[in-house]
Amino acid sequence: MISESETRLKILEAVRPLPARKVSISQALDQFVAENYLAQFPLPMFDNSAMDGYAVIATDCPIGKRLRVIGEQPAGIDRKLRVSNGTAVRIFTGAPMPAGADAVVMQEDATREGEEIVVTTEVGAGEFVRRRGCDLGEGQRILSQGERINPTKLGLLASQGFAEILVGGHVRAGIISTGDELAKLGEKLRPGQIYDSNSVLLQALLKHCGATVAMSVRCPDDADSLQNSFQSAADYEILIVSGGVSVGERDLVQATLRKLGAKIDIWRVAIKPGKPFLFGSLEKSFVFGLPGNPVSAFVTFLQFVRPPILKMMGAKDVGLVTLPAKLTVGQSNESERAHYVRGKFEHGNFTPIGRQESHALFGLSQSNALLRIESGEALRAGTTVSVQVWS
Ligand code: AMP
Ligand code: MG
Repeated sequence: MISESETRLKILEAVRPLPARKVSISQALDQFVAENYLAQFPLPMFDNSAMDGYAVIATDCPIGKRLRVIGEQPAGIDRKLRVSNGTAVRIFTGAPMPAGADAVVMQEDATREGEEIVVTTEVGAGEFVRRRGCDLGEGQRILSQGERINPTKLGLLASQGFAEILVGGHVRAGIISTGDELAKLGEKLRPGQIYDSNSVLLQALLKHCGATVAMSVRCPDDADSLQNSFQSAADYEILIVSGGVSVGERDLVQATLRKLGAKIDIWRVAIKPGKPFLFGSLEKSFVFGLPGNPVSAFVTFLQFVRPPILKMMGAKDVGLVTLPAKLTVGQSNESERAHYVRGKFEHGNFTPIGRQESHALFGLSQSNALLRIESGEALRAGTTVSVQVWS
């Protein structure tokens, strides 16, 4: 059995960041920027109104002041109007501030009488004016190389007019779900069959990483079928095999891979669940063999597959978010392997949830965090622990 830390290290050493590429901004979500991005424009780009109302000179607006409305300034065009004492400009949210004006009176705070308004509230300089550059200065860094493009970062890049983004490498994954018992979703189950849930789980996890699922097939436990499946997937950057990596006579994945000339670097890791985990390479493809039990597949994916994928994609940080939590129930681990306990992280507490067995998919579905308990470790209720949170 190989230690967990050695496994992680070996895998991360084996993979390299893939070449960066330019993608359209519509394809950039969940990718990692491959260079530092700087603001090309300040935000806001120009002084503009935060309200529908009237652009005025604040010192010219005591309560009850009557002002002549000299024009209208909508958003999207600069009418080059000028406000002077005794006048106001009708203005709308997002419209450029007219010259001379230094404040906006909300329309609710002015009474319109024909071509005039009467101001009904006190007005301070700068009120309801969004100043050029107050949010973001020109040249300021907006994303650092290796940072993940989430929806809000995507919005920020778009505000800067970037139609294409330089992002890290493209990881395409093939999934091979092995097992004679596996049925396709939508098919009627024969006695003894189960639905192939792992391929769906793994597809979702891969997409969540920002990788592309290029292929996903089911494969029975026979050497010829496995061989064909492996050969058809060897072009992808990574190949994920579910099931068939353990020690039974029906676990043919490793032997078949070896027959095809694959290099097996790691097999059997001191982790619970997930001991039969396998890592190697077949031609240009990195192969990850995950145990078929759904919780084992999930845990080993997060611990050993997600980090190298993120590294290939050019991520700066490949770890999961870890947060401190107060353990609500005492936990101990008598096994010789580190135990990843599934639980709920909520309001700063971590509570183990569901059956802690590797087939217990319902319990997993109720959880949002993992607590790693070292072999031989005992943790009392109330202890502050560090948990890995994935949602
Ligand atoms: P294995 O790793 O092939 O020995 O499978 C371990 C357990 O996981 C068995 O109970 C399998 O039926 C189950 N299993 C294997 N593959 C899948 C899958 N794709 N979806 C759901 N369960 C699976
Ligand atoms: Mg199997």
